[in-house]
Amino acid sequence: MNELVTPSIEALRPYEPGKPVEEVTRELGLVEVVKLASNENPLGAGRLAREAVARALGTLHRYPDAAAFRLRERLAAHLGVPRADIVHGNGSNELIELLVRTFTTPAHHVVFAEPSFVVYRMACQAHGVSFTAVPLRDHVHDLEAMAAAVRPETRLVFVCSPNNPTGTIVDPGALERFLREVPPSVIVVLDEAYVEYVDAPGHADGCRLRDLRERLVILRTFSKIHGLAALRVGYAVAPERLAAYLDRVRAPFNVGTLGQVAAVAALDDVEHVEHSRGTNRRERAALHARLRDLGLGVVPSQANFVFVDLHRPAREVFEAALQRGVIVRPLAGSWARLTVGIPAENQRMMTVLAEVLA
Ligand SMILES: *Cc1c(COP(=O)(O)O)cnc(C)c1O
Repeated sequence: MNELVTPSIEALRPYEPGKPVEEVTRELGLVEVVKLASNENPLGAGRLAREAVARALGTLHRYPDAAAFRLRERLAAHLGVPRADIVHGNGSNELIELLVRTFTTPAHHVVFAEPSFVVYRMACQAHGVSFTAVPLRDHVHDLEAMAAAVRPETRLVFVCSPNNPTGTIVDPGALERFLREVPPSVIVVLDEAYVEYVDAPGHADGCRLRDLRERLVILRTFSKIHGLAALRVGYAVAPERLAAYLDRVRAPFNVGTLGQVAAVAALDDVEHVEHSRGTNRRERAALHARLRDLGLGVVPSQANFVFVDLHRPAREVFEAALQRGVIVRPLAGSWARLTVGIPAENQRMMTVLAEVLA
């Protein structure tokens, strides 16, 4: 025990991002590098967002709109919710942290799934809040077990659907029961970073479930289908009272001007979103098939990545693929997460994986 930080901060390990292309190019002297490790949109940002950024360059010396008025107004219209229910964040990462910081103390408790987005755990550790990580069942959130893990001191429950890293969505009926049955004191956070990619019949997105309980917070991001990961824009949809508390705690200028204008333009760029969704749907299906052809274990995905059992230590496969200029995401044991790229990238990844696994 040292006097500088708490034991849980001492135990914290920094988030391990997907290896940047530049680093791999530099370290290995490779010319062509394919990065399919961070679930970014392989088509890039849309034309409207790029143009909006270019137009805003003349205002770089000004502070951004602290209230992100236009962005929140545009989101409110897009989602059919009041503007007061929307909180903008420096990526939804900031909002996860903000939820933990605003609504919990070390006396509280948080529930999330395992494996799921690692930031839930990191935010709890950083703030000394205890948590229960409930194992997935058949790669899907076990909502019954998660409800059973709720205690009187539980303040937050994170549900990630589609789940990162498995790509699975929660069963709509099970989610509805869960939202009704979890005690009203608990804030259920539905992380929908990949919701735009879902095409399962009967799927209802979080904004249509708001009537089921008061304390429901929905998290979305512009980093995935909108292709704006570099600009760090996310948002929460929360009941007004909760939104107001988050708004008090957040940093005043948490989303920059370029992020705000790009996000507004991205919402208007329906064509880019449709194109991205369509490309992902086709390529995801092709990837599922090719991975199965290699004899690998594939979990059917509703997102823009595929969770795969390589039947070999994933770290080894990752290192060998890296040497050949393909970056994927190794996870626990023999599991890896592969982002769905454009056709040429997927081709390259499959060629390299077949080579490495042969
Ligand atoms: C990528 C991702 C996010 C969003 O990250 P940003 O901070 O908005 O870039 C949030 N939740 C999950 C599960 C993700 O995979």
